[in-house]
Amino acid sequence: MGRSVLVTGGNRGIGLAIARSFAEQGDSVAVTHRGSGAPEGMFGVECDVTDAAAIDRAFAEVEEHQGPVEVLISNAGITRDGLLMRMKEEDFADVLDANLTAAYRVSKRAAARMVRNRWGRLIYISSVVGLLGSAGQTNYAASKAGLVGLARSIARELGSRSITANVVAPGFVATDMTAELPEARQKEILGQVPLGRYADADEIAGVVRFLASDAAGYITGAVVPVDGGLGMGH
Ligand code: NDP
Repeated sequence: MGRSVLVTGGNRGIGLAIARSFAEQGDSVAVTHRGSGAPEGMFGVECDVTDAAAIDRAFAEVEEHQGPVEVLISNAGITRDGLLMRMKEEDFADVLDANLTAAYRVSKRAAARMVRNRWGRLIYISSVVGLLGSAGQTNYAASKAGLVGLARSIARELGSRSITANVVAPGFVATDMTAELPEARQKEILGQVPLGRYADADEIAGVVRFLASDAAGYITGAVVPVDGGLGMGH
């Protein structure tokens, strides 16, 4: 029987590719959305990850539908780019809230049941810029770097219960998020990627699926780059 999987922000982009990848191998997959509804074949729960009460409700619905979450993918994320000297505190705080504090919220909610079941997989979608830095993205890069400390601390806290916590750090992936970048910036980025192209979201999904599999049972606290060589392993 398949696992019970929850992907935050699984309604589109990388999250959707991840959700589909688990569904294809026969897992029960739930995705969060903020009103757009769930993609076909998936169980959708409405949830804004900046709202702890909404997270609690969403988990309760998922538990009712497919049992406790065994594999959690913390994927939902936003950008609010701007140079430091012009960045409003609100833009810094909002990005940290959606990208990092939300990961703490969903991990905490999931961990209670994982500890009881003595098995779990926590996977965080970070970014190559978390470790490389990125001009104009102090908020985003800080939030993505923060996921590394979060995951590694959880790996230490919960390892004795066979719960692993790992980070996937994609480079540039062809989604709505990157489509928004100005053309000149897109060209500049591709010039720095040894593989010379954006990732396909499925290439991120494959690594996430591996980290959730039995074959990855001894991997925890890892940061796995999927970036076409942009970060050179960081
Ligand atoms: P998209 O912008 O295509 O999708 C973002 C997803 O996050 C959507 O499902 C969105 O939901 C959800 N989301 C955003 N804020 C919230 C919130 N407060 N509560 C619930 N859901 C929320 O992004 P990508 O698919 O490109 O990115 C997915 C993850 O991968 C992000 O964490 C991103 O930082 C990371 N990443 C992306 C890269 C890229 O090149 N695209 C590179 C490296 C990392 P909704 O549909 O409701 O808006």
